[in-house]
Amino acid sequence: MKNQVLRQDLIELDGSHGEGGGQVLRTALALSMITGTPFKIERVRAKRSKPGLLRQHLTAVLAASTVSNAKVQGAKLGSQALRFEPGPIRAGDYRFAIGSAGSSTLVLQTILPALWFANGSSTVSVSGGTHNKAAPPADFLIRCWLPLLARMGVTQSIRLNRHGFYPAGGGEVLARIEGSSILKPITLLERGERQALCAEALVAGVPSGIARRELDKVTEQLDCTDSKVRELPQEEGPGNVLMIEARYAEITELFTAFGERGISAETVAATAVQEALQYLQSSAVVGEYLADQLLLPMALAGGGAFTATTASSHLRTNITVIEKFLPVEIQIHELDGGVVRIEIS
Ligand code: ATP
Repeated sequence: MKNQVLRQDLIELDGSHGEGGGQVLRTALALSMITGTPFKIERVRAKRSKPGLLRQHLTAVLAASTVSNAKVQGAKLGSQALRFEPGPIRAGDYRFAIGSAGSSTLVLQTILPALWFANGSSTVSVSGGTHNKAAPPADFLIRCWLPLLARMGVTQSIRLNRHGFYPAGGGEVLARIEGSSILKPITLLERGERQALCAEALVAGVPSGIARRELDKVTEQLDCTDSKVRELPQEEGPGNVLMIEARYAEITELFTAFGERGISAETVAATAVQEALQYLQSSAVVGEYLADQLLLPMALAGGGAFTATTASSHLRTNITVIEKFLPVEIQIHELDGGVVRIEIS
């Protein structure tokens, strides 16, 4: 798909639809820039306890506006309505700061797709949180999302320069993107042979004994090929994240849980193990989170198919938004054992 070939009249979106969270806005921003289609959204993040634009969402709006020289109305903290009219996408060297522990990976995911189609290469630095609850950790983008995009024809790299945890933030991710991409469809219907099942517990400014207890619990329940504690510089914390990586020939999945005050290391481990087991015991190729994050690139490629462990409300909502901007049809077929097959055509 080429930049700005599909321009339509203004699209009107209801941010309270379906999942009613920030993803509706991010997908709209990405596709608005790529297709050159203006949009208006009301009731932004209406189903969240603090509706409207938080710092992460506002940074995504401002970043998208910078990259596409857009005219924007309503871009302020707390705003529940926004109008966005993009200009042409410009390659460049960009730096965006969220100014809180808001997710820098979600900001990156908003603007990277546009830069795949820019006439030239770009770099993007986003500072904020890099390992947040309810968002893809930087490791997820690097290990799970990027390799699949590379197979689709996108040349880009993401480097985690510094970890950022809630509530301190202060992390940084840096992406390099080649422009002028032509995306091609892929299918993910087999995982291929399992190559590794690794557990990694990261601590920053938190005793390493916590990480060891998490790993003991994980290795009691999962047949891990490797497990390791990583001690990060104290000033990157306080933070603790436990990640379990399942690596197959065709796909890598990552399951995450966060340490928090008042939650035992064993409980953190149980959460990550439960997520991992749900995937390991399923025949689906793609896990719940990667599924909703693959839709946009696959739709831009004009096709693709994959099986997923479940069709989450994020996934269903994302389909509705994508179908408003792009001439694609995305179908969900229910298979045995709760598995779904997603077809993009
Ligand atoms: P909100 O509006 O709820 O504050 P938000 O802007 O943070 O939310 P959502 O609309 O909830 O965003 O979207 C969150 C995104 O993060 C989804 O794409 C989801 O797949 C992804 N995500 C959530 N948890 C994980 C995880 N553990 N691993 C990978 N990706 C995740």
